[in-house]
Amino acid sequence: MDWYPRHRRDLPWRHTRDPYAIWLSEVILQQTRVKQGLPYYLTFINSYPTVQDLAAAPQDEVLRHWQGLGYYSRARNMHHTAQQVVSEYGGRFPDSYAGLLQLRGVGQYTAAAIASFAYDERVAVLDGNVFRVLARVFGLAQDIAVPASRKVFQQLADTLIPADQPAEFNQAIMEFGAIQCTPLKPDCLFCPLQSQCYAFQHGLVSELPVKSKAKAARTRYFHYLVLRYANTVYMRKRGPKDIWEGLYDFHLQETDSGELPAVTLLSAVEALGGQLDTSRAEEPVQALRHILSHQKVEAKFHPVWLQEPLPEASRLQAGLSAFSAGQIEELPKPIMIANYISNKMK
Ligand code: SF4
Repeated sequence: MDWYPRHRRDLPWRHTRDPYAIWLSEVILQQTRVKQGLPYYLTFINSYPTVQDLAAAPQDEVLRHWQGLGYYSRARNMHHTAQQVVSEYGGRFPDSYAGLLQLRGVGQYTAAAIASFAYDERVAVLDGNVFRVLARVFGLAQDIAVPASRKVFQQLADTLIPADQPAEFNQAIMEFGAIQCTPLKPDCLFCPLQSQCYAFQHGLVSELPVKSKAKAARTRYFHYLVLRYANTVYMRKRGPKDIWEGLYDFHLQETDSGELPAVTLLSAVEALGGQLDTSRAEEPVQALRHILSHQKVEAKFHPVWLQEPLPEASRLQAGLSAFSAGQIEELPKPIMIANYISNKMK
């Protein structure tokens, strides 16, 4: 608490007690560094100053603003939550930890952050930074990747948080983890907790916190057929039950390897009722790699120029829509698709 006022970063969401703005910042900052998340926060709060504005926005526009931040389900949940706050709560966020937990996509961490920052409720936040600080200072060896460990850390944090300054305490311990007690190379030499820190005193700083490894990510091979006719580009909106729901990509052939035989490509085009314009053949663009939390995607883009537009029936069956080059700029897209379009499509 002594350290925090002297070291804290000046961040826009620290100047507000508006639960909407706090919630927005917390959703954006999950799995994201402050430096990366800050411009997104500013875009959202400027585009949608109130929860009503966000709730009323078209989903495509929300996803477009989110583009590049990853974990798109967060954006969809955020949009849905805004609509829930408007339709079920009259546009006002619930004013307690228990009430906030009822909102979609709002877990224990986010509910604790909003309840303490906006309403001064005495409820301790636990994020990666807090886990690390507590594990090191108190020498807790429980595996933080195991859900059951959460209880141990929560109980400890609940005993530490002061009744008169819960918001300040939560901010302080998170900031301490982010700046001072960092995952790699924490600044132990100039640390005010050095003499009380179990990990430092016992030479265990690099061993704590204990975190078991996640399962290895599987690799998926995406072959995108970038179907074009004159100024038309065919794209489709991705459906549920897979990555990138609601974002736009190209016609996809997924295979078990990084290769797509020419004959497979030809038959895929024919299955769409398309005729290849061989006079405009272009080399495929090799594997752009995209790493998500639980899978790696290796994508290869195959430009396919058509002799004439795709027949309506097969186009609709494949879920494809026809766009002009200008229109595809405005669609929300996974970042690898956006990169391909801006770097490789002439
Ligand atoms: S002494 Fe090192 S490990 Fe302990 S709290 Fe300070 S920075 Fe973290």
